[in-house]
Amino acid sequence: MRQTAIGIALLILSPLGIGCGGTPVSSEPPRYVDLSHAYDEDTVFWPTEDGFVLQQEADGWTPKGYWYSANRFESAEHGGTHLDAPRHFSKGGLTVDALPIKRLIGPGVRIDIKAACLENRDHLINVQDLKNWEAAHGPIPEGALVLLETGFAQFWPDRITYMGTDQRGVEAVAALHFPGLDPEAARWLAEKRQIRAVGLDTPSIDRGQSSDFLSHRVLAAAGISIFENLARLDALPPKHFEVIALPMKIRGGSGAPLRIVARLPAR
Ligand SMILES: [Zn+2]
Repeated sequence: MRQTAIGIALLILSPLGIGCGGTPVSSEPPRYVDLSHAYDEDTVFWPTEDGFVLQQEADGWTPKGYWYSANRFESAEHGGTHLDAPRHFSKGGLTVDALPIKRLIGPGVRIDIKAACLENRDHLINVQDLKNWEAAHGPIPEGALVLLETGFAQFWPDRITYMGTDQRGVEAVAALHFPGLDPEAARWLAEKRQIRAVGLDTPSIDRGQSSDFLSHRVLAAAGISIFENLARLDALPPKHFEVIALPMKIRGGSGAPLRIVARLPAR
């Protein structure tokens, strides 16, 4: 009985529990949206990086009669759905293992900039784009994890449409074309709003044509984490969901593969 009472109390107190204001508490479980791409041989990495490698070590019946499967993998920190820790572009920034969990979980907002980004693949998501969202949905909440939807996830994992080139190596970097966050907008988020993280569905928070990575630098200096190559942002509402972003805990890592999910209230 006691457990049931606590369970009900938790439901009512939950930020997603729809308990306040006399609205009936739903008995439906919350819904989760997986915002990570899987890692495989097609996973998109920066042109200068090798891809993800999964090497099979065992996959079959042993002489003792039990099944045994085990692989090893090789991967750069920054490829596929991953987190950039502040250390990636800030000398004194936190490494991925040092990021407090509370900076990786919080209220999510999804800002839809698909129209501008699909019309111009070099679009810089600017302060006005962010203000337009606020005009419709209210201020970006304190502690938010801000997810920018460019629509480019629909091209994954085709490198030509997703990032502008399927060439590899240093020379290919100049051929990258995909939208990203305007450094002025990064500064606005860092200085005018209290956010924990910002992510998007392209390979980099700076657009493909950036060569100074200024948005990375501004956000890193402010201790804001970055999520790149996100999936399924189109399944999210503009707000009223929670983001849970848990990277692999690499000691000293500048970034890491990221399992990120959104938790939506029951319908
Ligand atoms: Zn990165």
